[in-house]
Amino acid sequence: MSAQADIRAGLQARAAQLEERLLNIQQDQGKAYSADSEERAQERENDEVIDGIGEETRADLASVRAALQRLEEGSYGICAECGEPIAAERLQARPEASRCIGCAD
Ligand SMILES: [Zn+2]
Repeated sequence: MSAQADIRAGLQARAAQLEERLLNIQQDQGKAYSADSEERAQERENDEVIDGIGEETRADLASVRAALQRLEEGSYGICAECGEPIAAERLQARPEASRCIGCAD
């Protein structure tokens, strides 16, 4: 397998994982509240935590999908900001990175 195929497989596996997590979160969010008001308060708190995780997961999924898109277009591994190649070590740690270490926040 070429390095690119490896990267693609890794990104696709990551996307599938994130999609599954999102699905679980959506199922959790769809649950009805308890009749008991104390339990209901606890459930609302849990929901806020779940919402936060959901947003993070959605953002991660968007980055992974964008990286797959760049892979298709042949611009993968090139910094979106300065156009320089992104260091291999950085891509290894964060395959979905779209900017080099110098341009990342
Ligand atoms: Zn850069």
